[in-house]
Amino acid sequence: MLTRRDTLLGGLCALAFPHIEAALAAQLSYALSAREVAPGTYVVIGKREYFTMANGGDIVNVAFIDTKDGAVVIDTGSSKRYGLALRQLVERTTGKDIVRVYNTHHHPDHFLGNQAFDPGVIASTEQVTKNISSEGEMLAENLYRLLGDWMRGTHAVTPGVVVADGEEKFGDHRFELIELKGHTSSDLIILDKSTGILFAGDLAFLDRAATTPHASLSDWQESLVALSQVPHKLLIPGHGEPDSEERAINQTRDYLSWLSKTLEQALNNGLDMTEAMSVPIPERFASVALAREELERSVAHLYPGLEDRLLPYIGQGESQAL
Ligand SMILES: [Zn+2]
Repeated sequence: MLTRRDTLLGGLCALAFPHIEAALAAQLSYALSAREVAPGTYVVIGKREYFTMANGGDIVNVAFIDTKDGAVVIDTGSSKRYGLALRQLVERTTGKDIVRVYNTHHHPDHFLGNQAFDPGVIASTEQVTKNISSEGEMLAENLYRLLGDWMRGTHAVTPGVVVADGEEKFGDHRFELIELKGHTSSDLIILDKSTGILFAGDLAFLDRAATTPHASLSDWQESLVALSQVPHKLLIPGHGEPDSEERAINQTRDYLSWLSKTLEQALNNGLDMTEAMSVPIPERFASVALAREELERSVAHLYPGLEDRLLPYIGQGESQAL
């Protein structure tokens, strides 16, 4: 299916001015670099920013592991272009084919690079797969509005392999797959048992405010307890620096519990959405990037549901009386 993404500026330039097309492509290139966090385990650290034309959606952590059987990739980034750059980086670094790609969840910064990989090696839970096939194209369209030409030609690709709780082995690496939820309706976390590295997806954020468009804060809090009980040496959050000190789990728990209490209190005090968006943010979250912006977005996501749950329905008495 051809969409605006395929046809906009770059496509027109390609027809009329091939040299402009080449110049645009040069400007829109992701400078991805891999940081080795354990022998053969690499993380590509995204910027702790929201999507902008300047960062092209390079805001997410992805990872890859060099095993004897081939490379294993965790999440694929925000666009087809990002996926292609990631694939090149993985192949260049490991010198191997890619034998498995995991999608941790269906948020656009984590799976829209799928197009660069063989769908037959992309795996996620049944629910993530359903979420990508039902919402993926809409999420890509939304991102196109924020990232413009960075997204050109990007479409949602659904994982071809469904995995459940259990283990997969590639080379000497045993990957334990655990399905949790709360950030979205299904969040796949992956523990590499041979290195003790836990890939937590967006259940854990570090020094970057948690995002809540599909969140259940109570499920998320339960999942963070479960996450803290998974023995690990290093945790790779979806956003923020790799963490060996439980900071990401503790900070995300603290932030979500503050967010949930603050929104309930705001509602009980009669604040409207605009007022709730401007409540003070505690000093202890000063290191947390985008705290104000994400509070504003969280009010928009969560306030209507809280109103339904906490405020009495004043029409009820009348309808019963009638
Ligand atoms: Zn994310």
